[in-house]
Amino acid sequence: MPPIVAGKHRRKVRFSSSNQPPPTASDPATSQQKRPGTSVKHSKVSSARIMATQELPRAGIPELFTQPPSVQDPLATESSDLQSATIEKCLPFLKGIQSSQQGPFNAHGVPALQRDDHIAYLYDSLEDYPSGFVILDASRPWMSYWGLAGLFMIGEDPTRFRSRLLQTLRPAQNRTGGFGGGHGQISHLAGSYAAVLSLAIVGGEEAFSVIDRHAMWQWLGRLKQADGGFRVCEGGEEDVRGAYCVMAILTLLDLPVELPPNVEARKAGLENLTDGLAQYLSRCQTYEGGISGSPGVEAHGAYAYCALACLALLGPPEETLTRHMNLPLLLSWLSARQYAPEGGFSGRTNKLVDGCYSHWVGGCWPIIQSALDGKPQANGPPSTTVGSLFSREGLTRYILSCCQAKHGGLRDKPGKHPDSYHTCYVLAGLSAMQHYHYRTDRSVTSDRNFASAFSWKSTPIREGNVYEKSDRLEPLHPLFGIPFPRPTNCGSGAKLALCRPTRKRSR
Ligand SMILES: [Zn+2]
Repeated sequence: MPPIVAGKHRRKVRFSSSNQPPPTASDPATSQQKRPGTSVKHSKVSSARIMATQELPRAGIPELFTQPPSVQDPLATESSDLQSATIEKCLPFLKGIQSSQQGPFNAHGVPALQRDDHIAYLYDSLEDYPSGFVILDASRPWMSYWGLAGLFMIGEDPTRFRSRLLQTLRPAQNRTGGFGGGHGQISHLAGSYAAVLSLAIVGGEEAFSVIDRHAMWQWLGRLKQADGGFRVCEGGEEDVRGAYCVMAILTLLDLPVELPPNVEARKAGLENLTDGLAQYLSRCQTYEGGISGSPGVEAHGAYAYCALACLALLGPPEETLTRHMNLPLLLSWLSARQYAPEGGFSGRTNKLVDGCYSHWVGGCWPIIQSALDGKPQANGPPSTTVGSLFSREGLTRYILSCCQAKHGGLRDKPGKHPDSYHTCYVLAGLSAMQHYHYRTDRSVTSDRNFASAFSWKSTPIREGNVYEKSDRLEPLHPLFGIPFPRPTNCGSGAKLALCRPTRKRSR
């Protein structure tokens, strides 16, 4: 972001003394997935069984979240050592007895959301960065998105950043279509997706008009592959991220579904950007039931979200998911992502819990629930529902007890530094836990394409919560990760998602 005039919310940026960039480069949104068999670093942790500490937990916390797993595999491996060490590190936080935790603690033994500290952290994240963060120059649209989405969820008004955002994104757009991660960089689907989402969050006609939709459409056409998928940039790799980003951009910008003339994919007999896409995603489901980045590699939580959200953008999930995924197998793999006692989600088999999967894995559940609930009703939630398919309490406990950094910002797990990527996606996970997302058969847009993507609604969950009312966040659209589109204040020619969100203060 360029420097701005000092304002009420301008703050000095706080970073760790090492001046090292946050670990975003190794996270799923910005990296390639590890292939099976790749070794992990050696843990120096003892392989001894995890012992229950004698320190008593706060009142109101079920034993499930205060004790080591009742069944432990005696075979010690690098993976099991790391898992044991993680549990030992998390247990004092889960028990509410770790000295760095800030209260107040509620009757369920859960600490309050440190709202003001996180707001300050998010405002900081949109300011200037020290030189050590130069690696993030290729993530400008992402930095914008994480900060803006986080601020929206926590009750701040992100539209105040509109002019700064336009200033940042204008030079990142290429004449040949799409946005680069930084100025002078080639267009990439990840950066373009984050740019479009950021513009949708600040909203308004001016934000919409920044985007060269015709050039964007032609660029997307050049990324289309004969097997139905998309490359993430011209000459780049093809994966599920590309598929999801294309569908989100296509839907939000109301671009033509037809392929532009003279693109390579037309020579393979394809006519539409969506041709063969669902079949491509289907080929990414692995023997475990999860979904990989591309056919034949390891299943991964972030790619699962991308694939499921992409299918739900293509059409009603009760049709697209049931037709193109083995749902029982998917449920089995996805259920295995939530651990006890931690309560959080892991991204892959034999990996550790990580706060960002609160969104990537947690975000899969509303889509699957909608698919299993079947055809939506005209108004309101379905009369019968499969209900929650995971432990909302467990994830809420992990987020509020283990993921809040002492001075603001949210993190992967205890012992890790916070960063804006984790702050955004941990908050997104908490927001999703606090709301029930469902579809009706009425879309806020009557446009011909992808109407079901705009038929989602949200209502707060009021029963059985282990957090306080003051910890409640704003809901995000489950397929886009932006405020829900509203059928007012819209510019002509735009999908309604690009309308200025109506603010509803939650504080
Ligand atoms: Zn993470």
